[in-house]
Amino acid sequence: MNILVIAGHPADMFDHCGGTLYHHIQNGDHVTCAAITQGLRIHDEVIYDRFRNDFSDLSQEEIDQLIQERQKVKYSEACSACKLFGITDIRFLDYDDEILTVTASMISKVAKLIRDVKPDLVITHWPYQDDTFSNHHAVTGQLALAGITAAHGVSFNDKQAAWNVSQVAYMICPADYRSDCLTNKGKAAYINYYVDVSDVVDLKVKAIYEMKSQKYDVPGYAQKTTEVWNGNLGARIRVAYAEGFAIEYPEIGKLIPVSDHRKMLAHGNERELLEAISDYRAIQVKTE
Ligand SMILES: [Zn+2]
Repeated sequence: MNILVIAGHPADMFDHCGGTLYHHIQNGDHVTCAAITQGLRIHDEVIYDRFRNDFSDLSQEEIDQLIQERQKVKYSEACSACKLFGITDIRFLDYDDEILTVTASMISKVAKLIRDVKPDLVITHWPYQDDTFSNHHAVTGQLALAGITAAHGVSFNDKQAAWNVSQVAYMICPADYRSDCLTNKGKAAYINYYVDVSDVVDLKVKAIYEMKSQKYDVPGYAQKTTEVWNGNLGARIRVAYAEGFAIEYPEIGKLIPVSDHRKMLAHGNERELLEAISDYRAIQVKTE
């Protein structure tokens, strides 16, 4: 299977779904990760902190040079983090994250990427996060959907064959399954598929820690964020750590599947189920 992850920022390529991607790579599937924006303006330690205050002392040339330098640092950190999961096919679309909105040119770029990668499955963000129209993750999810539709058609500016994506999975983060903004009220994501990532949670912690340019090396941060995100999702289904997805299209078969884990939830030993979620492995991972 060919899988394409379309992420808003470089770190989203692995912190939302890295454990799942690791399993797919182990299964022999090909994974391509793409980040739409550079993620410099909101996440980068130097750019964000320097440019929040008056920076009229800097020439345009100095600003451009600083942006280029910091982009290199961020991309190299993201590549090192992805490598921990075995992901080596990484694409950066280099979009400046000053204003991210759904535009025809961005949709064409995403469609071109899809025609090139030919994914069976696209993993992207829930398209209704927070205010739904300026939130980078939400806009990325919308761009991915528009790109999928465009890739199915022919483009006279892109001579690659048209490609139809089979399935879409939204990688769900805690901001998606609550409704904090009036504009996304009623649009909170419903997780309808969980991946047990307890076996690779140490990689998740180490990967997050790689993003030093966005301060993720603050002692304890990588461990804590993994506990409260993947640990919380895991507790919902009685595993130590999980990644949550919302699958866009109903799956098709001749039988209705019921997983062994679902049977265990129904009939398992309550003490053993509680023991499973009481595993605090992420908090114990040594980063440096
Ligand atoms: Zn992000």
